[in-house]
Order: sequence, then C-alpha cells, then structure tokens
Amino acid sequence: MTKPKAVIFDLGKVLVDFDYSIAGRRIAARGRVSAKAVQEFIDHSPLLFRFETGQVSQEQFFAEVRAATGFRGTIEEFSEFFADIFTTIEPMVKLNAELRQRGVPTYIFSNTNELAISHLRGRFPFFSQFNDYILSYKHGAMKPDGRLYEVVERQTGLRGTDLLYFDDRAENVAAGTARGWRAFVHHTPEQTREIIASTDRLESPNESSRSVSSFSANRVALKRSASVLKTVAKSYLRASR
Ligand SMILES: [Mg+2]
Repeated sequence: MTKPKAVIFDLGKVLVDFDYSIAGRRIAARGRVSAKAVQEFIDHSPLLFRFETGQVSQEQFFAEVRAATGFRGTIEEFSEFFADIFTTIEPMVKLNAELRQRGVPTYIFSNTNELAISHLRGRFPFFSQFNDYILSYKHGAMKPDGRLYEVVERQTGLRGTDLLYFDDRAENVAAGTARGWRAFVHHTPEQTREIIASTDRLESPNESSRSVSSFSANRVALKRSASVLKTVAKSYLRASR
C-alpha cells in the first residue's frame, strides 16, 4: 500500500485540551446562574451547534448566552472567558512540527467556532504551523457530516488512502473510514505517533520528485518485477490450460 500524502488532525482533545467548566465559572461569576448551568447552556444546547455551523454570528451567540445567564460584562470580556479554555497537548505539537519538517503536509479539521479560532490564532504559535484549516463554522457543516469531509478532499486535493486522519471521536473516524481514508481514533500521542511511523516514512509531494532513497527505489523496482512475474505466470497458466 502506498504511503499517505497528508495527515489530518482533529483539534479538540487531539492537539489541544479544553475545559468548558473554566468558561462556565468565569461567566457565572458575572451573571445570575450557576457555573454548571452556564456550562450546560454553552456546551450542550443547540446554540453551540448553530454557532459552530456558522448559523449564528459572534454577536448573536453572545446575545443568547447573555439572555440565558444574565452575564453583565462586555462582548470582549465574554469572548475572553468563552475562549480561554485551551491548553496545548505538547507531544502532539511536537509530532506536527516533525512531520512538517519532513515536508509532510498537515491540516486541522475541526468542529469549532470563530471565537475559539481567533483566540488560538492569537495566543498559540503552534496554530500557524499547518498547511491549511477545515473549520466547521466556515462551511455550514459539522463532522461527521460528509459535506465537511468533501471540503477536506477539495482543500488537500487528496482522497482515499492518501489521507491519514486522527480524531478522538469514533463517529468522526467512522465517517473518514467510510470515504476510504486511513482514519484512526486518537487515544494517546504515543499511539498516534506509532501509527504514523507504521505507515513508513510519509511521502511528501515534493520529495517524491526530488530524491528517491535507494531503499524505496529498490522497493519500487521489486514491486514492478513482482507484478511483471505475476502477469507472466498468469499468461503461462492460461496457455498451458
Ligand atoms: Mg476532538
């Protein structure tokens, strides 16, 4: 099997950890409902889905949270509280840096919103270290909706086994597998690193034309001879029947 040509990473719980209870506490401190109620409202209401599929703007999202929680601060304060919930998963950031150094294109593929992304862009240098981003709120669809996976295929120019994809949610991975991607549930950085290593040295689009190592050149030659032999054997068998 050929090597994958790009690695697709989910964001939340793969590259960054997040904790909505932090936002819940800070917003509740300036409102009239409990931290738990704020968190429930943000994290489990249809409002977040609408925000992350781009159906409501930041302003509308803020207005709805304010109405439900009695939050007394400004939209700027709210944005800070809402988005300041992330910590980087360092071994994954390191893994991405290594892939890119080897010329392997990497992408972020995430169900997310404008507030989270502008926060990450502004405060987390690693966030700029990807070839491109496929973000739900920009495309009106969320994983595991196939329409968002089509965007990945369009933006990367790749499909099927050329794509190696990691996500912590099984239903998102299943949707990738269904399209023929090499998709895996991310459990730990160590395991994901091993899976990537097991796909052998990933081939970058530039690398293949630049220099082919003698090892892979030999492998290509061997594969060719094997397929030639197969063809010869088949025609020999046909002839001798
Ligand atoms: Mg995730």
